[in-house]
Amino acid sequence: MSSYETACRYFDQASRQVGLSRNMQELLRTPEREVKVEVAIERDNGEIATYIGYRVQHDSSRGPMKGGLRFHPEVNGDEVLALASLMTWKTALVNIPYGGAKGGISVDVSKLSQGELERVTRKFIDKIYDVIGPLKDIPAPDMGTNAQVMAWIMNQYEKYCGFNPACVTGKPLELHGADGREEATGRGVAMITRQTLDHMKIDLSGATVAIQGFGNVGSFAAQFLDEFGAKIVAVSDASGGIYCADGINIPKLMEYCKDTKAVRGFPETEAISNDEVLASNVTVLIPAALGGVLTKENAKEVRARCIIEAANNPTDPDADEIFSKNEIVVVPDILANAGGVTVSYFEWVQNRQHFSWEKARVRSELDRIMDDSFELVWKIATDKKVSLRIAAYILGIGRVGRATVMGGI
Ligand code: GLU
Repeated sequence: MSSYETACRYFDQASRQVGLSRNMQELLRTPEREVKVEVAIERDNGEIATYIGYRVQHDSSRGPMKGGLRFHPEVNGDEVLALASLMTWKTALVNIPYGGAKGGISVDVSKLSQGELERVTRKFIDKIYDVIGPLKDIPAPDMGTNAQVMAWIMNQYEKYCGFNPACVTGKPLELHGADGREEATGRGVAMITRQTLDHMKIDLSGATVAIQGFGNVGSFAAQFLDEFGAKIVAVSDASGGIYCADGINIPKLMEYCKDTKAVRGFPETEAISNDEVLASNVTVLIPAALGGVLTKENAKEVRARCIIEAANNPTDPDADEIFSKNEIVVVPDILANAGGVTVSYFEWVQNRQHFSWEKARVRSELDRIMDDSFELVWKIATDKKVSLRIAAYILGIGRVGRATVMGGI
């Protein structure tokens, strides 16, 4: 099943619950604009390399469109569309004044020099600068992109449009970024995990956690969960997995990964496979890497009591059904990982006011939004006797639907 089919399946289930007419469903499902561009650069060795870049603007009924840019070899139009639609429901769910968008380039960044990465980024902006902007569509980091890439985006955009740091979020602190943005998605994941366990009447301090993916999201989620008293026993990344029944020393693992760029070989842990991480006997499983990792095939092996979707689209609908039969609580991506876009919103607000907040303020406003959003979704799930995923979609789709009707077609 393609990423977009998966997203539509969840959307369709929830929109029936909301009572949307067929026409309204079609209107909300259809993206406003899909842009596909050629991104050609000269490589360091003088050869020409051509990549394909995408920006899908899904819905703007609640405000300018917002969403990350993913640089990864598996990026394609279908996936970007699916991820753009998730951004529409995610921004509505946490009630920040944005619509949804997503973009990306099908490129393996590990094969590019820093100079090549910069040229790819600037060329992409040359091709899309006229459809993005602070009040139109605001990019941000996602897999394969970081604060440096956002700095180049801002610089290139400003060559056309003049000083305007609110045109992109996730920037470095030196260039109008927000203190607390880098950790935000991981912190949000940890907050949501704490809330979930609390509502399941499980003590976080005795809970064990397995995290698949140790990039920006997985590593900060691990750091905060560790601080909150949970025991992280299994972690994996592209290099493989590591396990330690007594709990992995997360601050030391973060240091170790700075040098090695991989978790494999971390002292006092046992090497395990990525599949073993997903199947570990833990309280909480956190997929924090690519989409589509939990499938019909491996869902039966999952032994966790709950799954917190830090990645976008990690669970396919067949796996989702298996989890519900096995009474495994699944907290959906659009709620679990909404901390990133929430702090992007704070960065944009600060940029537009030319005024910056203390990190403590960023954290406390984030915590409040995550907690409130969780409570609302949990209540809808309980009242309507639906899964947390359908409840999250009901909340998001309801807000977008009402804004669309009130604004007029
Ligand atoms: N890429 C992140 C996401 O999927 C953040 C998007 C943003 O900050 O605009 O939510």
